[in-house]
Amino acid sequence: MNKKPNNTSAGQLSVETLLTHGGRWPEDQFGIVNTPVYRASTVLHPNLDTLVNHNQPYTYGRRGTPSTRSVEELITKLENGKGSRLTSSGISAISCALMSVVKNGDEVLLVDSAYAPTRQFCDGYLAKMGVTTKYFDPRIGAGIAELIGKNTSAIMLESPASHTFEIQDLPAIRKACGDRDIAIIVDNTWATPLYYQPLQLGADISVHAGTKMFVGHSDAMFGTITANAKFFPAIEQTHGLLGLFAGPDDCYLAARGMRTLAIRMKEHESRALEVAKWLEGHELVERVLHPALPSHQDHKLFQRDFSGSGSLFGFCLPVASTPGVSTKALAAFIDHMKLFGIGYSWGGFESLILPSLLDKARTVSPWPKDKRLIRLHIGFEGVQDLIGDLEAGLNRYKSAL
Ligand SMILES: *Cc1c(COP(=O)(O)O)cnc(C)c1O
Repeated sequence: MNKKPNNTSAGQLSVETLLTHGGRWPEDQFGIVNTPVYRASTVLHPNLDTLVNHNQPYTYGRRGTPSTRSVEELITKLENGKGSRLTSSGISAISCALMSVVKNGDEVLLVDSAYAPTRQFCDGYLAKMGVTTKYFDPRIGAGIAELIGKNTSAIMLESPASHTFEIQDLPAIRKACGDRDIAIIVDNTWATPLYYQPLQLGADISVHAGTKMFVGHSDAMFGTITANAKFFPAIEQTHGLLGLFAGPDDCYLAARGMRTLAIRMKEHESRALEVAKWLEGHELVERVLHPALPSHQDHKLFQRDFSGSGSLFGFCLPVASTPGVSTKALAAFIDHMKLFGIGYSWGGFESLILPSLLDKARTVSPWPKDKRLIRLHIGFEGVQDLIGDLEAGLNRYKSAL
């Protein structure tokens, strides 16, 4: 695998060292280790010259404070970008990135397996602005060349897809763009920059729902956008004009979460794999969707481009032929879990379970109706306890089928 995090071009330092030392300046904060929460709108200037010529590091709350700069600097180093901007949620990071690279008359190519609100933003909002969206099969690879038209200005990926876990061949997609100025945006929430480096593989912009792995404790909403030198000015401009901002408390929580990201990812990875392998051996489970498993359809791509895997994966169960029975069986399974919580989002210390309802969520590569897909986020409970909870749940499912 060629994209080991320890090989980042950010310098000789390992990613663990970056995470512990990057984006904080105790010497500027009376020796205090963590950058404090700076609440600011007005920032005072010592004189007219400083005010007019902006020659001090901070000028106005919305334009950044040490609380925001801390996280921006850290994520920029991790992603090997030119610069980063922070937003109040993952979806605002995605919409800001898209708005930065399209204009009226343009076309966006969006992966069919994208996060549903990303689709809604394209179909609902960009469409109103005169930007059309075309969807592509997540496994299209070099075949995307046929979809690239003269108005294509952006291609958006989410690799792997956060419900169906297809890996997208980013280098092949970049290659298919030839010398066209097409912005490739990647939602990198699943792998984090520790395990996947989109800007190194041909993307221009990497976005994160920082809400998930960065915050890591299910207690804040957060988004990040990191771009290369070519697209960072556009991101800066759109972010500024839309007045996007991440509050200082949320920046603090994200910075604090990121200090332990490397060890949390390792734990999530090994626990998720243990549970995934156990599920793969269960008689009721038809398929486990986890790209780090050799059985996964995109495992080779995963091995080529990723250096590790995340907390989130899916699995398929059989569906009863009588309508209604399946829903009852699903409820029998999910409603009585003792450890897995039922809820949106993921990335926290606690495990979660969610049925993936994809009927309306895909258009060019529909999800088969006879496949019941369940998504798990594996947290830090004892793995055997989690397996016990799943085993009891699967027994309930089977009995209710
Ligand atoms: C959750 C999520 C988002 C959106 O993040 P929010 O912070 O909830 O707005 C975007 N992409 C992926 C892959 C996600 O899982």
